[in-house]
Amino acid sequence: MKVIIIGSGIAGLTAGAYLARGGHEVFVYEHFSEIGGVTATIKQDGYSWDIGPLLLEGLAPHEKLGKMLIELGIYDKLELIKEDRGQSFPDFQVWRPEEYKGPYWRREYFKELFPKESEGLDRYYEFYDRMMAIAYLGNQLPFVKGFEALIIKLKLLFKFLKVKKFKDWSAAQITDFFFKDQKLKAVYLGILADMVVKPSEFFGLGVPFFNIETAFDKRIPIKFKGGKFPVYHYIKNGCGELVKVLADIITENGGGIHTNSTIQKIIIEDNKATGVQLENGKKIEADLVLASGGMFNTFYNLVGKEHLSEDFIKNIEGITLMESVFMVHLGIDFDPSRFQRAALCYYYLTYDIEGAIREMREGIYHEGADGFLIYIPTMHSPEMAPPGKQAVTIYTVGPHKLKEGTWDDKKEEFADKLIMEAERIIPGLYEGSETKKIMTPDDFKSRINVLRHSFGGTAPVLGQTNPLHKTPIRDLWYIGAYSESGGGVMGAALGARNVAKMILEKK
Ligand SMILES: Cc1cc2nc3c(=O)[nH]c(=O)nc-3n(C[C@H](O)[C@H](O)[C@H](O)COP(=O)(O)OP(=O)(O)OC[C@H]3O[C@@H](n4cnc5c(N)ncnc54)[C@H](O)[C@@H]3O)c2cc1C
Repeated sequence: MKVIIIGSGIAGLTAGAYLARGGHEVFVYEHFSEIGGVTATIKQDGYSWDIGPLLLEGLAPHEKLGKMLIELGIYDKLELIKEDRGQSFPDFQVWRPEEYKGPYWRREYFKELFPKESEGLDRYYEFYDRMMAIAYLGNQLPFVKGFEALIIKLKLLFKFLKVKKFKDWSAAQITDFFFKDQKLKAVYLGILADMVVKPSEFFGLGVPFFNIETAFDKRIPIKFKGGKFPVYHYIKNGCGELVKVLADIITENGGGIHTNSTIQKIIIEDNKATGVQLENGKKIEADLVLASGGMFNTFYNLVGKEHLSEDFIKNIEGITLMESVFMVHLGIDFDPSRFQRAALCYYYLTYDIEGAIREMREGIYHEGADGFLIYIPTMHSPEMAPPGKQAVTIYTVGPHKLKEGTWDDKKEEFADKLIMEAERIIPGLYEGSETKKIMTPDDFKSRINVLRHSFGGTAPVLGQTNPLHKTPIRDLWYIGAYSESGGGVMGAALGARNVAKMILEKK
């Protein structure tokens, strides 16, 4: 079949790679001048920086992304660097100890910091262990069939019964159940600020998945009694390398990837997608269309509300999206590693995650005062800067639209403020910068062609249903961060793979 894919992010390229390998004629159309969506690695003055994900979960051979790369035959084409990250709070820091102290050193460390919480910490880590076993089994499920799948499902059911009582609890309820101290709760809830989802909205069972101990110490053995832990990796020379190997599969199998090609309309006849129309008016016929990209643009503009039911539109209108990001990429002329022990550290400057998110949703930008992260990719990939130089990214979450003023008017001022905040950690950043690239929410919006930027798609909010892969239009599939797979590299890629499998198996 002739398949048109809208968008060359991780979702579009993954689907394209599976379908091209499966014998279909694949054409990817990309709005921007370069492929990759938010998984692209950008370049300026000899420096390279990632504009999206940094330390990736899921790439080990026992995990979903790793299994997909193995299925596609490209696992050995990427150089993966196993790593961990630091966490910093106003009153304490969480860095892996010089000497390895076992898989639960954070639990013991927090007991020293918060002695009254010892019993709660023990209970939390029992819950954590259960959830890790569930995650491991869940990771295997999409890749097995028949009897093996049945056994895994039964094991999952059995393990789930033990945590079922938390099923409808929010992350705030879960942390209240285990801990009393707001500062300790913030350790486990802080990552929600990164997704701009309130602890009261996020599903409680997800808390351990976003606080996996291996993210804080790469020396923790992967194997445990119930399976294998998730592992965190950088991709040597940036995420763009993943983009390249996926794109190669498409082109090597006869497919085409067209940049600077914005799809303006999905052509629909008798409730069936029959092709697309480009911005320049050119029409291209296809047997199937797979759309990734923003939910509002896809369904309101490309499809058209006239083809959708009131319920479908009402559901979309009710979906909470993540907010956006403000990024400053720097090229510096000195070695920052003596100020930050690992390539990546999250600096949280508030314990009030719920309040910070509320303000952000009102369009109030914290100017770096609530927290940010610093990433130094040249600590693992020196090739990302000219010899002797270092690439640094400082970024933080910010409202997609400011309550007062515009991102364009304020970007230089905000960049200076963010660099100044980061100077408290790495002195000399300002003076030592020889190149700078600022990315505002509006830059993301135009780069990836969305009506409203959200850095990871829909927010993982309890009770929310994203648009399904199978759309109400025949032969039109919806993939990517706003679809039922949800955001994240692993999620968006797996959803796209599942859609490709359904097409290949004619389901
Ligand atoms: C700063 C940042 C940090 C992140 N950190 C992490 C992380 O640590 N871990 C993690 O798992 N995930 C992370 N994510 C989220 C993750 O990267 C995304 O959810 C995922 O990559 C989305 O992939 P996608 O293919 O759905 O969308 P995108 O990458 O946005 O790709 C969509 C593509 O479609 C194109 N397009 C849109 N409309 C059209 C059209 N009409 N015609 C042609 N082309 C079109 C766009 O230009 C774009 O290239 C992060 C994201 C960002 C921005």
